[in-house]
Amino acid sequence: MNTEKTRSAAVILAGGTGKRMGGDVPKQYLELCGHPLLYYAIDCFEKSSVSEIVLVVTPGDEERVRRDFAEAYGFSKVSCVVAGGKERYNSSYNGIRAVSDADIVLIHDAARALITTDVIERTIADAREYGACVAAVPSKDTIKLSDEDGFVESTIDRSRAWIIQTPQAFRMPLIKAAYEQAEKEASEKGLSGFFTDDAMVAERYSGRKVKITMGNYENIKVTTPDDLKVAEEILMSRRGADLI
Ligand code: C5P
Repeated sequence: MNTEKTRSAAVILAGGTGKRMGGDVPKQYLELCGHPLLYYAIDCFEKSSVSEIVLVVTPGDEERVRRDFAEAYGFSKVSCVVAGGKERYNSSYNGIRAVSDADIVLIHDAARALITTDVIERTIADAREYGACVAAVPSKDTIKLSDEDGFVESTIDRSRAWIIQTPQAFRMPLIKAAYEQAEKEASEKGLSGFFTDDAMVAERYSGRKVKITMGNYENIKVTTPDDLKVAEEILMSRRGADLI
């Protein structure tokens, strides 16, 4: 175990449109057990060992989020609120560039409101030791790849299949250099929709293997109205157990 002293920053991504949720209110502002969805991820990182939090939001929402979240809730670790980009990876890169001072950066989807500090601390430790890591859980289901006509093409060995979550954590120089190259290749070749997570950027450009860090089955991505109901039940049960 590497014991060097490190400073960690979190980039929380809330710059998406949340179209799959339906309705007029973007999902990051939908109410979940008395607070907007975005509150929960910020609150968890605020309670963790990270020193700084950068929020990435829909362009135009920066001031409102600064006022209604950073100020209203008194989150002291939020250092800045920046505008997101067209795709998730553009938002990640905007957030990474806004971090003021950190050796390790954790990138987290605000939609994963049920994140817990133990998963955050595990990813920090693995990023420190291996350079790059993703939170994930073993797949309980058999996963198949389809062909373009909707038929099964192949079956993945379930004992090696993982469901990928966030946070995804990296040493800062590694992920900055990888994102620089990603942006260059994307602008030359047009890689629209290609990068669906940050680990893909590290896998493709850093030359390092990304470690898989044990996540938590409750760390779901709240994407549809059904997920909102599940998230509500999990939060209620944690409150019942006095865990939050
Ligand atoms: O679209 P997807 O489910 O991959 O979004 C994951 C997270 O990334 C969400 O929290 C969303 O708000 C964020 N996102 C973003 N900027 C985008 C697209 C998504 O910050 N352009």
